[in-house]
Amino acid sequence: MHTIPFNKPHLTGKEAHYMYDAVYTGKLSGNGKYTHKCQQWFENTFGFGKCLLTTSCTDALEMAAILIGIMPGDEVILPSYTFVSTANAFVLRGAKLVFADSRKDRPGIDEASIEALITPNTKAIVPVHYAGVACDMDVIMDIASRYGLFVVEDAAQAIDSYYIGKDGSKRALGSIGHLAAFSFHETKNIISGEGGMLAVNDMQFADRAEIIWEKGTNRSSFFRGEVDKYGWVDVGSSFLPSEVIAAFLWAQLENIQEIQQRRISIWSKYVERLSGWSKANNIALPFLPEFATNNAHMLYLVCTDLEQRTALLNRLKDNGILAVFHYISLHSSPFYEQKHDGRELHETKRYSECLLRLPMYYDLTEEEQDKIINVLINEK
Ligand SMILES: *Cc1c(COP(=O)(O)O)cnc(C)c1O
Repeated sequence: MHTIPFNKPHLTGKEAHYMYDAVYTGKLSGNGKYTHKCQQWFENTFGFGKCLLTTSCTDALEMAAILIGIMPGDEVILPSYTFVSTANAFVLRGAKLVFADSRKDRPGIDEASIEALITPNTKAIVPVHYAGVACDMDVIMDIASRYGLFVVEDAAQAIDSYYIGKDGSKRALGSIGHLAAFSFHETKNIISGEGGMLAVNDMQFADRAEIIWEKGTNRSSFFRGEVDKYGWVDVGSSFLPSEVIAAFLWAQLENIQEIQQRRISIWSKYVERLSGWSKANNIALPFLPEFATNNAHMLYLVCTDLEQRTALLNRLKDNGILAVFHYISLHSSPFYEQKHDGRELHETKRYSECLLRLPMYYDLTEEEQDKIINVLINEK
């Protein structure tokens, strides 16, 4: 039986060409032509302040934690229903994690629960735009400014997704918080195998971000002719990807519109064809608040309970379709359970037990998608 995988990385066709170019022009390390092309494209297209490509979103989050000066004892508010990297970046600097619950209508952070979690030690809020669906950024930025906190957007899944503010303004996710982190891991919409990016929107961080990125040296300003020698000026690490990776990414960016159109059409067909079945079975389809646009990163279902989800996963698997669940909540993880303050997070638990993701990728064929839908809606 032909198996339908959960994800298949999409190639636009130009990746090898640009990688060949990068290899044979002899500039292999980072911060070269393709890195600049990608970074400028992001800044111009989405209105991010300053972009720096990184080797992963994990790296970009670690840079953010260094930049906002996380120290042992600082508290960071983040959802429990997220990937470990959202948490690790801050734990590595000694932060205490304060987990917020998810919303009832979608897995994103419950904005209304944030304020009660703030203490004098709180330093930052880290909203995660789950499935590329915006958190209510006006609300979060307002809380942050009233309490003097930083906002780091985990925008790993949120490329080409927007937040429409109360004043009608449409802003790209990742352009609103002081800092934002993106991922180009092969499971995301736009990919480079492994890869990521830090978007710096609060320009007080711009110069230091570049230094941290380049191992704590002012190498970048040296190459721009701003200083006559370069040296060790701050902490830092090796966060920048090689030109070969940036060249791959450039081929993806050139085709972002086509990639997004295809994904949105697959996403919409799922929602259209599954709506009657999902209602009849008390299964929720993705909910989009009116302030969020759709980047079709993910098609998830929220089942009534664990038994229903297990049965669906098995039925799909028996038919050669690989659907998967998602995060095991971080507040009850082996690593953090003892450190967590003990609050129960009901919605987080529910998404851990009931959320299921369907295959959702550019090269999913019409026949394959029809098969997935039919296996779901025709009970036997
Ligand atoms: C994918 C993902 C990450 C990690 O991205 P990498 O590029 O693999 O480091 C972090 N947070 C969220 C929400 C993600 O989906």
